Amino acid sequence: MKTTLRTDITVGDICKGFYYNKLEGKGVNGWGGKLVIQPEYQRNYIYEELKRDTAVVESLLKGYPLGLLYFLKTGEDRYEVLDGQQRITSFGRFVTGKMPVMDEDGHPHNFDKSLHGRILNIPLTIYICEGEGPDPESEIKQWFKTINIAGVDLTPQELLNAVYSGSFVTAAKSVFSNSGNSNIDTWKAYVKGNERRQEILAVALDWVSKGNVEEYMKDHRHNPDITELTNYFESVIAWIDGIFKDVKAEMRGLEWGRLYELYHDRPYSPDKVWERVEALYADADDGKIQARRNIFEYVLGGETDRKLLKVRMFGAEIARKVYKRQTDEAKAKGVSNCPDCVLAHDANAKRIYAFNEMEADHVTAWSKGGDTSEANCQMLCKHHNRVKGNS
Ligand SMILES: [Zn+2]
Repeated sequence: MKTTLRTDITVGDICKGFYYNKLEGKGVNGWGGKLVIQPEYQRNYIYEELKRDTAVVESLLKGYPLGLLYFLKTGEDRYEVLDGQQRITSFGRFVTGKMPVMDEDGHPHNFDKSLHGRILNIPLTIYICEGEGPDPESEIKQWFKTINIAGVDLTPQELLNAVYSGSFVTAAKSVFSNSGNSNIDTWKAYVKGNERRQEILAVALDWVSKGNVEEYMKDHRHNPDITELTNYFESVIAWIDGIFKDVKAEMRGLEWGRLYELYHDRPYSPDKVWERVEALYADADDGKIQARRNIFEYVLGGETDRKLLKVRMFGAEIARKVYKRQTDEAKAKGVSNCPDCVLAHDANAKRIYAFNEMEADHVTAWSKGGDTSEANCQMLCKHHNRVKGNS
């Protein structure tokens, strides 16, 4: 890569023709049309929500340097911002009257004539980069991958978008990271993340690719058709919507793609499903089960995998007390201290098990209303506890 240092370009130069599209959070131009401030492989504008945009302007007003900016030369007198997009967007919005900053007295201060001289004539420090070698584009994007932008870490998907930028990413972002997309609020009932940080897109790609996101992006990189991605994502969302009559907070961020693959061919009655979800939530409220998030998977799977729920277990103190009482009584009667071994009349009918050969069991199962108290605890040998199931 060839770099040229420029120190003759000012804030005012870059702000000529500055344009910011808030809805798309992108497509920003400046420097009289010569500069693309937000190329497609860069992030959406996130300084605003991080409350750092005014800090950029305030430090300019105090005379602090803005740091190095990197522009990529893309043609004759044409450039893209490689690093510095967010700093440029921050001062650009201020200078064009889109954002006030606080003055020393804490009052909002819009850009006005009194600030012209202080802001517009500030020189910037810019490295102009030109790619060389057989694949300059990829060389520059790899380099972008390694630079740290103003202390805000890139999310994994932001990095992937940079490395595999192209018509696929552009089209995918227009759906999955577009804050103006009215579906996003609905999706966020089930998907966790910030669309502007590409986290909804990350989930959509994870689902359609069954976890092979990078491969998928590589294969589709130059394909502007995102039908498969959107169809799959919408199918999963519609499936969840169809089975669960209401929304619980714990539904957000579950592995819905995996659950869809496992269970989307099974028939469900939404009324019965929701009745069971509510009943299990009541058990969770009572402290009987600990893994509230897994209730949905448990119900979808036909309530067979009890391990998912993390049924509350007896503490060692209760187990030891019950063990001692049961063992004392068994020794007095000359029978096994496992009540089920006594009933089985087998070779172990008189066996006295050591504490660590036994497990605590709910006499009345939690699912039938039994609680996790000493009165509802019995010790069984490991064999019989497993036979009975982890209830
Ligand atoms: Zn036993």
